Amino acid sequence: MRYAIFGDIHGNSEALAAVFADIEKECVDRYVCLGDIVGYGAEPRECLREIRSRGIDTVLGNHDSAAVGDTPLDYFNPYARVAVEWTAKKLSEDEEEWISGLPLVRNYDGFTVVHATLSNPKEWDYILGLDSARKCFELLATQVCFVGHSHVPVVFMSDGSITFSRESETVLEKGCRYIVNAGSVGQPRDGDARASYAILDWKAGRVEIRRVPYDYESTQEKILKAGLPPSLALRLGLGR
Ligand code: ZN
Repeated sequence: MRYAIFGDIHGNSEALAAVFADIEKECVDRYVCLGDIVGYGAEPRECLREIRSRGIDTVLGNHDSAAVGDTPLDYFNPYARVAVEWTAKKLSEDEEEWISGLPLVRNYDGFTVVHATLSNPKEWDYILGLDSARKCFELLATQVCFVGHSHVPVVFMSDGSITFSRESETVLEKGCRYIVNAGSVGQPRDGDARASYAILDWKAGRVEIRRVPYDYESTQEKILKAGLPPSLALRLGLGR
């Protein structure tokens, strides 16, 4: 089985379309979404439609949760908060209901998917270093955990001691466990403006982080036109 695993789309239709086009070339069997379909970007409904029409398994993200009033606004910085409030006004009742029904964690044969971390997933803590990775490994019942949330692609490995890698390819070794941050489709923050997602190839025992260029200038125009904070447009060109 080959899985495409992606998230943090954040209402960015151009990035999502570019990632889908890349996935289609990659002969993938199944798509899994790590959440944060909405928030920051000007096209939350378009992105929801794309995910829902394909019937893609999705876990709840903090922006999805906040847009339906289920995560308090004081969790967010001022720009994110403006975007959450803007997004909440756009969603239909049916979309709100669909988001509200999303699980926090999904388990597959050999891997687990969660937006933020397995330790109190609805606290929306970040896995940014070895200590937070350790807490997540302690609760991980499968070999691999896929996460999003920080928008920075990275792979943590644990074979007793914990290390990390920023290489695009990781070979899955027996006796070793992994936390893979797939990066962000719609708002990368590692200094690379290209969309980021992961492909898991179980048969080959391999995870690949792929980067896909997209027309971020169109996305920026839409954000400015929608009256969202200009900084949310600017950062897309910087990948920050
Ligand atoms: Zn996010």
